Amino acid sequence: MKNPKKLIIITGPSGVGKGTVVKAILKKDINIWLSISATTRKPRNGEEDGKDYYFLTTKKFKEMINNEMFLEWAEFAGNYYGTPINIINEKIKHGNKVILEIEVEGACQVREKFPETISIFLLPPNKKELEKRIRNRGTDNEKSILQRLERADFEMSSSKDFDYVLKNYEIDKTADEILKIIS
Ligand code: 5GP
Repeated sequence: MKNPKKLIIITGPSGVGKGTVVKAILKKDINIWLSISATTRKPRNGEEDGKDYYFLTTKKFKEMINNEMFLEWAEFAGNYYGTPINIINEKIKHGNKVILEIEVEGACQVREKFPETISIFLLPPNKKELEKRIRNRGTDNEKSILQRLERADFEMSSSKDFDYVLKNYEIDKTADEILKIIS
């Protein structure tokens, strides 16, 4: 990758509000581009292929792994998730900053490959609040909720490995803090 300083990783446990914060950031700065991930998870109501994710079969996902088409990939709550590399290089070449909104294992892989990236870890105000947020969004079944909460403990214990750790109390404030960090 030509200019990894233009790559920004937003990570943290599922339910912390990464997606909502990133949406707020994109509204505030039109020169930032959000990487669209590939996943083997089934689309949720309202999710569109090519917009929210590239929804792939496990066979296709594994093919892409074998062909080294991912910048990083990880297994999370029973599904695969990965960042396709080709578009990112293009966007960076054209002067965009690129945000990756990914879970912790993938974030660590990117940091190892490109230590110059800016990495930001979002923490919930507390674990109870995290559980409330996951349950309130109403998108996951009980098994998936429990998998995500269990994983959150490990994820939150990794927060110290990232450049910045922010508690996400309020979407708009967190988005502004991140914009300040990356400007
Ligand atoms: P969800 O199923 O809730 O959409 O995503 C589950 C988790 O996977 C979230 O923490 C999300 O940030 C993460 N995720 C989304 N895309 C990617 C990706 O491309 N790579 C990795 N490693 N994690 C991802």
